[in-house]
Amino acid sequence: MHVAPVKRSKLHLQTVGLVVLLTAVSWSCSRSAQLIRARPFSEPQLQTISDLPHLHDAATLSGHFVRSVRVYRVTALRMERRPNRIDPDPVTTTVPIILSLAAETRLADLPAGSPEANAVALYLHATRYLEWATHLFGDRIDFNSQENYRDIELLITDPAIGDTQYITSPNRFLIASGSSVPVGLVAHEMGHRLFWIMEDQLAPVLAGPNDLVHCGILEYFTASFANDPFVPVGPPLLNRDVSLPVRYPEGLETIAQTADRFRRSYGTHFAEQPWHAQYAEFLSTLRGDAAKRLDGHRSGLVIAHPLWRARVRLGAAKLDALVVAALRRLPEIIFESRRRLPPTLTKNAPSKAQWFDLLAALLSVGEERSVFLEEFRRVGFDATAVAAAFPKVASENIIR
Ligand SMILES: [Zn+2]
Repeated sequence: MHVAPVKRSKLHLQTVGLVVLLTAVSWSCSRSAQLIRARPFSEPQLQTISDLPHLHDAATLSGHFVRSVRVYRVTALRMERRPNRIDPDPVTTTVPIILSLAAETRLADLPAGSPEANAVALYLHATRYLEWATHLFGDRIDFNSQENYRDIELLITDPAIGDTQYITSPNRFLIASGSSVPVGLVAHEMGHRLFWIMEDQLAPVLAGPNDLVHCGILEYFTASFANDPFVPVGPPLLNRDVSLPVRYPEGLETIAQTADRFRRSYGTHFAEQPWHAQYAEFLSTLRGDAAKRLDGHRSGLVIAHPLWRARVRLGAAKLDALVVAALRRLPEIIFESRRRLPPTLTKNAPSKAQWFDLLAALLSVGEERSVFLEEFRRVGFDATAVAAAFPKVASENIIR
């Protein structure tokens, strides 16, 4: 079943408003020039604005995946409660910024932290991620079917508001004035678009973005694309690093724990940063089931970490391909794993893919089994039980 992107957008910002929060730390301006050139994919080295593919005109960047990037200055930001909705919406007051992008402008000369440098960086990172994902997964991925995400807004917040990139979504990025769009932030948000398609078409057994397997694989791709284990979220205690050791099940965290991380990140500065105080107030209104719910973004580190370590050992291209192959097998392997694995693992497990289903899929690909077993075991998963249920088999018996 295909769910219209607009519906997903609301879900992402409403019920997962938190989860978006659970996205990001501000990067220093000094990384700007580097960011523009990060992860070149299929394009030749870009020198000037006119080298950008599909440049539409001097003020708008427009291409086959990203139809437009428009930039606004945010002068006011507040949370607004709406009828019949549980979570409030962030509401912005904005002023358009007209970009100055003459065709002969050298990309390297765009001032770090300027609206022009950030618009170009956002355009390039988004386009490259979507091209990269299309290349990885093949022609079955059509990002242009997500019509509502082809136009992207870049909102630059005034100093009085501060850094609010944690409420970013795939078609609305927020960064603090003078800072630079981090490649990891763009990759993470584009990853949500990829995984919406995945949930609907390629691996419909994946649960939503509140799930650790879903978010863990998504974040593996974020770090792999950026070639950087650090995933910027914004609040210092909410930034993620997939290279850091983590244990299962100790590494699982709830929304309430995330709210606490947010308050501890900004609490001593609430007087000078009224927006953060307002957001903390919003978090404090989450009670009961919402607060007890698993935070998939943070909990997903127990999945992203072993995958990242396997990538370090085997190389990016190989691991990317193996994870894609495992994802393709997931819908079939999940039935097999529930039949073969011991009840101690599968009893009472939700019907959507769990860590043991993912590991079974990785093992069933038939390559580098020992690496996956070692890395999952290192985190604390009972990988031995999965290995016993999915022994190395002759190629004709591998589930394809
Ligand atoms: Zn997210």
